[in-house]
Amino acid sequence: MDSQKFETLSKAAEVAATRCGEWCFATAREELYDCTSLLEMAKIHDEESLGDEDSFYLVSPGGAIGFSGDSAEIDWLFIPLDSNEELPASIEPAAGIDLCPKCGSRTTAGARFCGACGTKL
Ligand SMILES: [Zn+2]
Repeated sequence: MDSQKFETLSKAAEVAATRCGEWCFATAREELYDCTSLLEMAKIHDEESLGDEDSFYLVSPGGAIGFSGDSAEIDWLFIPLDSNEELPASIEPAAGIDLCPKCGSRTTAGARFCGACGTKL
């Protein structure tokens, strides 16, 4: 499942709140948020920040909340407590794309075998 995109942090927080119940701030892990404080903080944030057409928020399948200002890189803001989800640093998996040396098919980053021909990577 891919991360979903949202126009405001409030919408992202509402969805994230259905996936987990406690977050820490990505850059200050001692700052903890529960559903209520996260939604309050998101509301204040949305009132203060001016919308930018190209920017959006994301919610990962595990409930992490990220922000992207340029549709390429993701700044993860809130990380669910005791999450060991791997959060991508960018929207496009482009940086991690590899090609199979044998058949030239695209392979998933980190894959050990080619999905098309089975060659060990
Ligand atoms: Zn192959």
